[in-house]
Amino acid sequence: MKKDEWSLEDFEIGKFIGEGKFGKVYLAREKQSGYVVALKVIFKEKLEKYRFHAHLRREIEIQHGLNHPNVLRLFAWFHDDSRIFLVLEYAARGELYKFLKDLHHFSEKRAATYVSSLAGALAYCHQKHVIHRDIKPENLLLDVEGRLKIADFGWAVQSNAKRHTMCGTIDYLAPEMVEKREHDHAVDNWTLGILCYEFLYGGPPFEAEDQYDTFRRILKVDLKYPSTPRVSAEAKDLISKLLVKDSSKRLSLQKILEHPWIVKNADPSGSCNE
Ligand code: ATP
Ligand code: MG
Repeated sequence: MKKDEWSLEDFEIGKFIGEGKFGKVYLAREKQSGYVVALKVIFKEKLEKYRFHAHLRREIEIQHGLNHPNVLRLFAWFHDDSRIFLVLEYAARGELYKFLKDLHHFSEKRAATYVSSLAGALAYCHQKHVIHRDIKPENLLLDVEGRLKIADFGWAVQSNAKRHTMCGTIDYLAPEMVEKREHDHAVDNWTLGILCYEFLYGGPPFEAEDQYDTFRRILKVDLKYPSTPRVSAEAKDLISKLLVKDSSKRLSLQKILEHPWIVKNADPSGSCNE
């Protein structure tokens, strides 16, 4: 699948997969190669309403330049008068979130495999000076073999930033973001700690009745480990080294990959179905 100029004519459109804030996602097949992809259709009208246009273009170009096994590939993009089309890698098993809800929490092997995949993908992105800033279970997809793929790279940042303040979850915000201080790639290391906790316990650590309480708990780093499900001391050690208020003291991505809990539990293939 290589070409300079793509158009809708190049694809056979299949089943509807789902709908997001700005458009719809369909299964599609590239006619020449037979390659199956996910085609995301974004309506320009909706973008203009939110004034995301210039931003989107830049972010699309950033994602286009990323090529890592745990980052959802953006193969190509094109547009017509009313729509922008993103030709995306197809993540056949869909949202990781759905599995977490169904299973309530993941085994240590599965959680460690996902954390390791995420740390590897983030290390790659940081190297390219890309910060995701909005990593959460809804933005993590699984391919046909169960390998994790980070989706909604960059260009979803603004839409989701809105979500934080308006209605959605603030559970994944690092203290420096809550306090609206300057932040850098260390916010992703914090989020990795939140996700690791959520994978193992089934919910994020600073959940509270209202937003204000969540903010307060984040700023205090009010971290508690429930007695059930049973989680190993090594896993808790990793979490407590990521959920550190001082962003410069958080475990680095490289150190995460070398952490005993990851070394012992993560499946090197990146695929774990247990
Ligand atoms: P947002 O607008 O905030 O991004 P969203 O992530 O729900 O919200 P989309 O990214 O447009 O919206 O995705 C719509 C649906 O399609 C979601 O259920 C998502 O899991 C699914 N989806 C998106 N991209 C892919 C893909 N590459 N492979 C498989 N499913 C996908
Ligand atoms: Mg999305």
